[in-house]
Amino acid sequence: MGKVAVAFAAVAVVAACSVAAVMVGRRMKSRRKWRTVVEILKELEDDCDTPVGRLRQVVDAMAVEMHAGLASEGGSKLKMLLTFVDDLPTGREKGTYYALHLGGTYFRILRVLLGDQRSYLDVQDVERHPIPSHLMNSTSEVLFNFLAFSLERFIEKEENGSDSQGVRRELAFTFSFPVKHTSISSGVLIKWTKGFEISEMVGQDIAECLQGALNRRGLDMHVAALVNDTVGALSLGYYHDPDTVVAVVFGTGSNACYLERTDAIIKCQGLLTTSGSMVVNMEWGNFWSSHLPRTSYDIDLDAESSNANDMGFEKMISGMYLGDIVRRVILRMSEDSDIFGPISPVLSEPYVLRTNSVSAIHEDDTPELQEVARILKDIGVSDVPLKVRKLVVKICDVVTRRAGRLAAAGIAGILKKIGRDGSGGITSGRSRSEIQMQKRTVVAVEGGLYINYTMFREYMEEALVEILGEEVSQYVVVKAMEDGSSIGSALLVASLQS
Ligand code: ADP
Ligand code: MG
Repeated sequence: MGKVAVAFAAVAVVAACSVAAVMVGRRMKSRRKWRTVVEILKELEDDCDTPVGRLRQVVDAMAVEMHAGLASEGGSKLKMLLTFVDDLPTGREKGTYYALHLGGTYFRILRVLLGDQRSYLDVQDVERHPIPSHLMNSTSEVLFNFLAFSLERFIEKEENGSDSQGVRRELAFTFSFPVKHTSISSGVLIKWTKGFEISEMVGQDIAECLQGALNRRGLDMHVAALVNDTVGALSLGYYHDPDTVVAVVFGTGSNACYLERTDAIIKCQGLLTTSGSMVVNMEWGNFWSSHLPRTSYDIDLDAESSNANDMGFEKMISGMYLGDIVRRVILRMSEDSDIFGPISPVLSEPYVLRTNSVSAIHEDDTPELQEVARILKDIGVSDVPLKVRKLVVKICDVVTRRAGRLAAAGIAGILKKIGRDGSGGITSGRSRSEIQMQKRTVVAVEGGLYINYTMFREYMEEALVEILGEEVSQYVVVKAMEDGSSIGSALLVASLQS
């Protein structure tokens, strides 16, 4: 070999070595990056951990807070609000009734026809529309004029097909925000939640606002009841099955109500009802306990929300927030490694990843996870390998599993408070043989998260059995109530007339 050839060979070897070194270096770097991501995931899993022991602590805390909220005004983060609903629909109601429901994402209008027997419940013309986002921080006048206008259109459609003119219509206003009631048909807004911000309305009578708007439009409709959405769901549950004593909503937000004995509502001494009980709206979204497994993502989400330091439980378990927790985890991974490619500016937008997408990711059963790829593309993350897509599925699983299990702990807390969890309640000294655990108990559940997100529902139901044990669980029936809030509120109005 000549000198020149040797020199070339030497250069080639050196070049090959440096290419190999660069490749090994890259691989090691990429391994390090992957390790970073795995560590972030591990930290998330640890921080979201909900072993049954911890869930039981949450159960106890929920029951204790319920007692405190019933004992004195402001005694707990749980407001435990009176609803003035002491009788629930029986199935004997008759007539035509309407419901208008302002939820967190949707508003709904429907009509029910009742014919004296349970089997004659006919739900008609269910209209469901997204609430236009500009209304969420508009004015009271703009919001209520919009609702009245929507009702007017609903009625006009009906008039084309029937001869119901000249009859005053009885309307239930289902309102999914905290209200301090003074009667079943009146109450003032305590605060907004779920991103609504119309400050002038706080302290205003909500039913009066709607009635005013209906009158201004010349609609002969009477707001006969102002009903929390959970109370609507309880009413429908009870109408079909009188063992229904608890109702929970998992939609944009989350809340629960239940039937309580009036003598247990200590803060309202002397409260008398014919049935001896009253439905209490817990406003459980605001529940808090140091036993709740909180992550740095929850802390940041809360701090940046329009209602910081408020609705801590809701922010861990409801549809408005699960997507944003997942987004925050992906963003952190994307900032600390390059596995998601260049950092997507879209990924920094709060609430850009919806919980509907979380369930679509979680339940993607295509072999290559094409749905995951499509959703990631929508938030500016393109062409990530399969193992990264699997990682995203795992994040959704961790966040939703925690939500479902905490939701179950909340329900078990209510059952504990009313002595239906097999333990005899927290203040009772009753012996095990006296325990009411043999009583069948139905929990009515509604809301888009519960109805549409199978994995959330399964995690919740599985954890409920884990907490209560197989034996007691046999007596606890969880029943889905689609559109229960609106239908049940109309039934409640019907029961007031009969
Ligand atoms: P509202 O809260 O307005 O009463 P819903 O009870 O229908 O309305 O709940 C709507 C919310 O439920 C959505 O904003 C979303 O968070 C959640 N949701 C609806 N569909 C799904 C789904 N397929 N997967 C996961 N979450 C869903
Ligand atoms: Mg709802």
